[in-house]
Amino acid sequence: MKKAIRYSIIVPVYNEEAVINETYQRLTKVMESMGEPYELLFINDGSRDKTAQIIEQLAEADDSVKLLDFSRNFGHQIAITAGMDYACGEAVVIIDADLQDPPELIPQMAAKWQEGFEVVYAKRTKRKGETLFKKWTAALFYRTLRAAAEIDIPLDTGDFRLMDRKVCEAMRSIREKNRFVRGLVSWVGFRQTAIEYTRDERFAGETKYPLKKMLRFSMDGITSFSYKPLKLAGYLGFVVSFSSFVYLIVTLFLRLFTADTIPGWSSVMACVLLLNGVVLIILGILGEYVGRIYDETKNRPLYILRNKEHAGRPQPDEVNWRVKQ
Ligand code: UDP
Ligand code: MG
Repeated sequence: MKKAIRYSIIVPVYNEEAVINETYQRLTKVMESMGEPYELLFINDGSRDKTAQIIEQLAEADDSVKLLDFSRNFGHQIAITAGMDYACGEAVVIIDADLQDPPELIPQMAAKWQEGFEVVYAKRTKRKGETLFKKWTAALFYRTLRAAAEIDIPLDTGDFRLMDRKVCEAMRSIREKNRFVRGLVSWVGFRQTAIEYTRDERFAGETKYPLKKMLRFSMDGITSFSYKPLKLAGYLGFVVSFSSFVYLIVTLFLRLFTADTIPGWSSVMACVLLLNGVVLIILGILGEYVGRIYDETKNRPLYILRNKEHAGRPQPDEVNWRVKQ
């Protein structure tokens, strides 16, 4: 007899009370249509609204729903990491709660996985209902990252993907703190492929990624996969020092051999400001790396759970798997 495939669906949620029920409905519909056992693993990332209560109610009525409840907001990337730590299925799907990633693509991803691919990620060809600013900064970010990164990170791809259990296990062995999960999934390797999709509008509520979180996220992406900014700092320093040296020679020449050494206050100011600017930029870049080294050395756990019943990952067979009746 063919062994049933078990699917784990990881859904990070942060203040998503307006969408949870709809997300649950759509996911359940899709998963039931597939006719295989599944678990819906919601990670509540320290929501301040009724998100956790709504999920608890769902869990009471439906065995397939599980809640990992963070003690505070640890961030989206940490939430999906916790999901991967606790997921028990043979195939693991990561999906946003706001229905921007359509659950209806999961069967298509599963088909690719059955063909033998170990990671099937969803590449956005269009993004609906997002501001021009978000689209442009996102496009710029993915291209910069691609140019900088030492590994091949696919363009315009979020965390919406299906992974084989093996990939998830490899991900569990990576415990770095400032995580850029989609890059790490590329880094672990395996056979990977893409399917394309149009990213929908958020079903309800507002983005949980304000500019500050977006900047932090892009810095994590670049610093964890590239030393190029550090090298750039070095090159920039070299170019500026070399130009300053040339300018110094010119100044000396003018002072010694010509009569027109007008007290050049403006040029001095310009040089001082420029140099200080460059030095500060370089220090800033160094700071980004040093800060992350500091985070690693502190060796804190990545997250803390409020609900203790999840302490210690359950074995796959201890989990309630729901199959279509
Ligand atoms: N999210 C989270 N913690 C956070 C921010 C976001 O768990 O600190 C979740 C959020 O609930 C959603 C997903 O991460 O399921 C993506 O967030 P969002 O849709 O707000 O980002 P956007 O699509 O606007 O980039
Ligand atoms: Mg979204």
